[in-house]
Amino acid sequence: MNHREALKHTIFKTISKSAAELNLDSYVIGGFVRDYLLKRGDAKDIDVVAIGSGIALAKQVAKNLPNKPKVQVFKTYGTAMLKLDDIEVEFVGARKESYNENSRNPVVENGTLQDDQNRRDFSINALALDLSQANFGDLLDPFDGVQDLEYKIIRTPLDPDITYSDDPLRMMRAIRFATQLGFTIEKESLDAITRNNERIKIITNERIVVELNKILESKTPSIGFLLLEETGLLKYILPELTALKGIDEVEGQKHKDNFYHTLEVVDNIAKHTNDVWLRWAALLHDIGKAPTKRFSKKVGWTFHAHEFEGSKMVYHLFKRLKMPLNEKMKFVQKLVFMSSRPIVLAQDIVTDSAVRRLVFDAGDYVEDLMTLCEADITTKNPKKFNKYHNNFKIVREKIVEVEEKDSVRNFQPPVSGEEIMETFNIKPSREIGLIKEAIKEAILEGDIPNEHEAAFNLMLEKGKALGLKISD
Ligand code: ATP
Repeated sequence: MNHREALKHTIFKTISKSAAELNLDSYVIGGFVRDYLLKRGDAKDIDVVAIGSGIALAKQVAKNLPNKPKVQVFKTYGTAMLKLDDIEVEFVGARKESYNENSRNPVVENGTLQDDQNRRDFSINALALDLSQANFGDLLDPFDGVQDLEYKIIRTPLDPDITYSDDPLRMMRAIRFATQLGFTIEKESLDAITRNNERIKIITNERIVVELNKILESKTPSIGFLLLEETGLLKYILPELTALKGIDEVEGQKHKDNFYHTLEVVDNIAKHTNDVWLRWAALLHDIGKAPTKRFSKKVGWTFHAHEFEGSKMVYHLFKRLKMPLNEKMKFVQKLVFMSSRPIVLAQDIVTDSAVRRLVFDAGDYVEDLMTLCEADITTKNPKKFNKYHNNFKIVREKIVEVEEKDSVRNFQPPVSGEEIMETFNIKPSREIGLIKEAIKEAILEGDIPNEHEAAFNLMLEKGKALGLKISD
């Protein structure tokens, strides 16, 4: 098959010409070809294989381009990269790889196109288009990748046990592609992943997180997490999630399976946000339930303070996986910590003061918290489902109202500590804290508006009750 229409961009003609000048063959390979055939839109990453030096080819291409772009050379990897507008082209010499037990870094030798295709992870990622002038656009598909694209199958070019054992990151990639593309991992491959799951231990956390993020960013992330669980990988990566699996029954009382519930919540939230951190919050919102689970005859199953426990676990999990310990982590922690608050609201009559307290505590995260809690409604009882959603609608409306009336988001006390000290001519003391707390409470309760005058009057009242005298 010829696919010269995939190579309309002028860069391909330039590569073809440059390769001819150096008297070597070159091919565009991997994700670009796959995504073109899947009509996934124009790929921004182009991988080019040269049968010879990839670095020399990159330099020749740069010379032949009118704007003479800079070539970035990665000597240790034998690769080079140049940018053309928003496109990144990576050049590499064809290689043959052999692996040893303890590393995913292979011993590399120069090789043929066939050798290079053999080292690719999946048949659909081994597709190549010829860039030579004589065969421009010819498809080279030694492992029937096109057929796999058609049947939506993830398959390794060689024996899957070898492919996955050589580089265990490929197990994560298989599951990630299955999730992103909605493909099925063929049975031999899935079995091989299960057999080799322990080898994931040699992969760095950073690389694992890249794949986890891509799974979370997919349309239906549960596909990936179910596969991770089914193959036994999840227990090595996110044991906090596998700990949520299962339903216990004591004296006829059961709790829900919090693992499958969590996955439903993640799929729900994926319909409403592309923010990967909010999706992380959904994934982790119940992790505190495993360590806090208790049964008592009186109340049945409880998960007392699981939100607090869960938010502490978020920190340890982020640290272990070498994820950022910055404001993104704090965001996830806070959402986990507050994840039950709106639910409690939604079960009852929604009062202004409860909403004001919610906005006060959640600050700028309040809308994201609402999105999380809406996604958390997985009840199959349509009556309850509608009731909760209607109440959440009211909560959202009230958030706007309360904000207009008394801005309590990022609350600043309308009367400062200095003002209290000056008014009563006192030094820093317990009384100041008590007065400030009373003012805050009155505002949140709706007893006084969030305004200086009302707060000042309350301060005078409280000060008097505490036995303080107004200074002259
Ligand atoms: P995406 O851009 O969605 O991540 P991609 O396939 O382009 O998809 P890259 O990670 O950029 O992913 O890899 C480019 C190509 O390199 C792949 O298509 C594949 O042929 C090959 N490749 C990448 N990682 C591996 C690996 N661990 N083992 C074997 N081949 C790999």
